[in-house]
Amino acid sequence: MGFVLKAFYNGADGIFIAGCRLGECNYTTQGNYHALNMVCLCKKIMEYAGINPDRLKIEFMSSAEGIRFARVVSDFINQIREIGPIGEAEGVSRDEMRDKLGKIIKLIPYIKVAKRDKLAMKPEDIEDYEKLYTKEEVEELFANVPSYYIDPERCQACGTCRRRCPAGAISGEKNKIHVIDQDKCIKCGTCYEACPPKFKAVKKLVGEPVPPPIPEEQRTIQRKKAAG
Ligand code: SF4
Ligand code: SF4
Repeated sequence: MGFVLKAFYNGADGIFIAGCRLGECNYTTQGNYHALNMVCLCKKIMEYAGINPDRLKIEFMSSAEGIRFARVVSDFINQIREIGPIGEAEGVSRDEMRDKLGKIIKLIPYIKVAKRDKLAMKPEDIEDYEKLYTKEEVEELFANVPSYYIDPERCQACGTCRRRCPAGAISGEKNKIHVIDQDKCIKCGTCYEACPPKFKAVKKLVGEPVPPPIPEEQRTIQRKKAAG
């Protein structure tokens, strides 16, 4: 998904993905089915972003089908020429499109977590892939983007979330309440899952503002001395 959306972000007018024939994967991964599933979600995200989903195409063929490959690619190129340059054909400026796509690209880890179960689905019938994702579902996905916040009252500075955060968005040190940098956070939810249940310090917020970070000078944890 990242490769596809970043290519459009960088100005590609069309993207063609070729995979081995369905059911003929040499490995046990069946990656071509996963790619098809991901393309279906990508197309709905493109619609949401105001990009013509026909700019993305996936086809399956074997290495012995050279003539078919040439025809399919050539047809796709003609189709993209007819659609026109990205942005211009959609009636939005290049900057506007990059702005929209940039925000969506930042949310890819969230999208993958939120749609984890569905992305793992592998319907038997090829026609069913088209029905996997709906416009409303994608709108809801973007309407409910969560924010993560560390409750200063609960954080015990164990450092688990900081070590596990893939974006380096959490700052903190021994004995200091940890804080999430909302600009760096890619909303993957790892900290939410990683914070030990006995602390439950990471909050998932949807549709409400994130409280400001606790001031630097108030981050030292005051631990209670054991009685006696
Ligand atoms: S959700 Fe948590 S772990 Fe993921 S990027 Fe944001 S702060 Fe880091
Ligand atoms: S994992 Fe939880 S308790 Fe540990 S530093 Fe992060 S927020 Fe604080």
